Amino acid sequence: MTGVKVLVIGGGAREHALCRSLSLDPDVTALHCAPGNAGIAEVAELHAVDALDGAAVAELAASLHADLVVVGPEAPLVAGVADAVRERGIPAFGPSAQAAQLEGSKAFAKDVMAAAGVPTARAYVCTTPAEIDEALDAFGAPYVVKDDGLAAGKGVVVTSDLAVAREHALACERVVIEEFLDGPEVSLFAITDGETVLPLSPAQDFKRALDGDEGPNTGGMGAYSPLPWADPKLVDEVMETVLRPTVDELRRRGTPFSGLLYAGLAITSRGVRVIEFNARFGDPETQVVLARLKTPLASVLLNASTGNLAAEPPLRWSDGAAVTVVIASHNYPGTPRTGDVIEGLPEAAESGKDAQKAYVLHAGTALDADGRVVSAGGRVLSVTATGADLATARGRAYELVSRIRLDGSHHRTDIAAKAASN
Ligand code: AMP
Repeated sequence: MTGVKVLVIGGGAREHALCRSLSLDPDVTALHCAPGNAGIAEVAELHAVDALDGAAVAELAASLHADLVVVGPEAPLVAGVADAVRERGIPAFGPSAQAAQLEGSKAFAKDVMAAAGVPTARAYVCTTPAEIDEALDAFGAPYVVKDDGLAAGKGVVVTSDLAVAREHALACERVVIEEFLDGPEVSLFAITDGETVLPLSPAQDFKRALDGDEGPNTGGMGAYSPLPWADPKLVDEVMETVLRPTVDELRRRGTPFSGLLYAGLAITSRGVRVIEFNARFGDPETQVVLARLKTPLASVLLNASTGNLAAEPPLRWSDGAAVTVVIASHNYPGTPRTGDVIEGLPEAAESGKDAQKAYVLHAGTALDADGRVVSAGGRVLSVTATGADLATARGRAYELVSRIRLDGSHHRTDIAAKAASN
């Protein structure tokens, strides 16, 4: 395969990680991104197209003669952007709007899991105060209350305070109340064309805003891969009990899932349970997973998009580790302050070996009128580093974090700390 022109949709650190990997792939001859951000602009040509507008994205892809469109975030997938691209005859990496309901509706995901025999938390879907009270009472504390719609990881409340649980549940139109799952969490991604399933290397992310897993849930404050503490048979087990049955069930229903199937898992004392599915690459896990992937990305994504994944050889991984630390704006995950100048970013021209070992992936950034990089969202930067082991990668990531200055920003200081010390 030679000469692939790729258009990536989205503008977060996940899309920067995808663009970075694609820019390092010798098969990729042109790389475009819409809308992108200040960091992605260094590796891809940006286009000011609304990521949620399927017709506009398909039009852009056609005008660029794109061979592949990679849809990053969940909202465009649920809005049918991948469908619109495919209708134009252009391969799209990402599920149909119907299959993306696996992420878009927690109730739909529960239904698919029940039909496929996939282990998950017992749950009630509630729409009335009486149902809510009954469900909260049935499970007891700690309470797990999830808004049924898309909420960027922020619609979930886990609390032992009944009043807080009840208040969140009553604020949702439709709410899923479920059994609390104990044990560490694992994110396992799989690339699929709707039939063949190719698992990636597992990662762990850090959802809470503050050190020690305190504070509110966020989109994710950091991640690492691989997981030295995980059972080496974990991936095989999840393939058999979760990934294959889910992909088979969606195909059986006539809504095959192609793209990235993300299983958020709890390794409980009673075995592996699915916490949630996502229909796209996870952010920030993608930053660490792609940092370790040695197989060039374009052909894998293209083969998944065209139903040819069975032709792909097994993926190759670096033996080393990767760590990413998110720098977030003042007040994130509340309404973030934006427009602050970011200082200390490594120069784009700064290349060579070290730039491959520790680098900055941009999320909510923009250029101001003077060409300075400023904050433009809640999660601003994903500082990512690799190393022979987690401790080395972690040291490199935090060294780079310490050189970056963003007024009022915060980051966790304990990303991968426990795993690196074992
Ligand atoms: P979700 O959006 O479903 O991934 O939930 C966000 C986060 O809430 C998860 O990563 C977990 O940390 C936590 N969570 C969700 N469901 C449960 C559960 N049933 N038991 C314990 N924690 C949960």
